[in-house]
Amino acid sequence: MGRPCLTIDLTKLEHNARAIVGVCARHGISVTGVTKGTCGHPEVANAMLRGGVSSIGESRLENVRRLREAGVAAPMLMLRVPALSRVEEVVEAVDASLDSELAVLAALSQAARRRGRVHPAIVMVDLGDLREGVWPDDLVPFVRQVLALPGIRIAGLGANLSCFGGVIPTAENMQRLVNCALEIEKTFGIELVWISGGNTSALPLVAAGRMPARVNHLRIGEAILLGRETVHRTPWPGTHQDAFLLHTEVIELKRKPSFPIGERAEDAFGEAPRFEDRGARDRALLDVGREDVTPEGLVPLDPRVEVLGASSDYLIVDVTQARGDVRVGDELVFAPSYAALLAAMDSAYVEKRLVGAPAAP
Ligand SMILES: *Cc1c(COP(=O)(O)O)cnc(C)c1O
Repeated sequence: MGRPCLTIDLTKLEHNARAIVGVCARHGISVTGVTKGTCGHPEVANAMLRGGVSSIGESRLENVRRLREAGVAAPMLMLRVPALSRVEEVVEAVDASLDSELAVLAALSQAARRRGRVHPAIVMVDLGDLREGVWPDDLVPFVRQVLALPGIRIAGLGANLSCFGGVIPTAENMQRLVNCALEIEKTFGIELVWISGGNTSALPLVAAGRMPARVNHLRIGEAILLGRETVHRTPWPGTHQDAFLLHTEVIELKRKPSFPIGERAEDAFGEAPRFEDRGARDRALLDVGREDVTPEGLVPLDPRVEVLGASSDYLIVDVTQARGDVRVGDELVFAPSYAALLAAMDSAYVEKRLVGAPAAP
């Protein structure tokens, strides 16, 4: 087989999606499956849909296009708030978007009107994570202006946590989102259909039965893709953590000192790495590098293998503990973190191989 290679187990992904959709359904929550961690891989989207997600969420228009061209017909939600320069494409390509800027919404309204459509918008509220969203104090005047745009229908309110500020979803901050919705409904006499409470990091709150009942939608990527929640990154019960595996090849294997020889400055990436002198060690160079992965995000399946670091084209691992079992030409396999998965999916040098499911008709 060609290496390096990322295997994508579609049966495990479908199973993971079904597990997440199940726990959410028990609490009245529908799930948008988020494929952006796989650059919008159509078979990943299809596996999520077979597992019961009601729509697909994407952050990039290019990925949306890739999904559509491959025949994924499910409703599509744009997750990254649209750029003003791309409103025409957004209205054309997706069924709804998360939004936070009045100028963008005005342009989306015009673009929708030109097509004789009304574009559904979920207005994002910033609950303190300090990424996208309208500040709660500004929400009522903001919504008043959006309601005056004829090409926009406010489909609901949304929030996103744990992405920039690392703020954890709690019953309290989720209730603040619900209170915002109640205030909007009372002030303007409208009904907000969707209260989109967040991403994977909201799952522990849901499973604990502490998510306020009005929250009826989540956008879930990592828990389906990697089988983990993202507050403590613990495995989610009943899911697989190895739907994606990175297969690499040993291209050099030598016993060398563990401490560099000679006067030292920066490494290839301008960092000054620290080394511990552990004497002579067996070290393997593998055929992936920073161009293909984030080395910090790789967990070797063989616990005797230890990741030391990487340059652009080499991943360097210590295999002393596996002495005799690792040879040049052998395969070493790693479970990727979300960041490592994203990099591997994005790397043109890593083959993507579908396993574990019947070929699409
Ligand atoms: C990426 C993203 C998600 C999915 O996040 P996960 O942690 O992978 O579940 C949800 N909502 C928004 C707005 C996003 O950008």
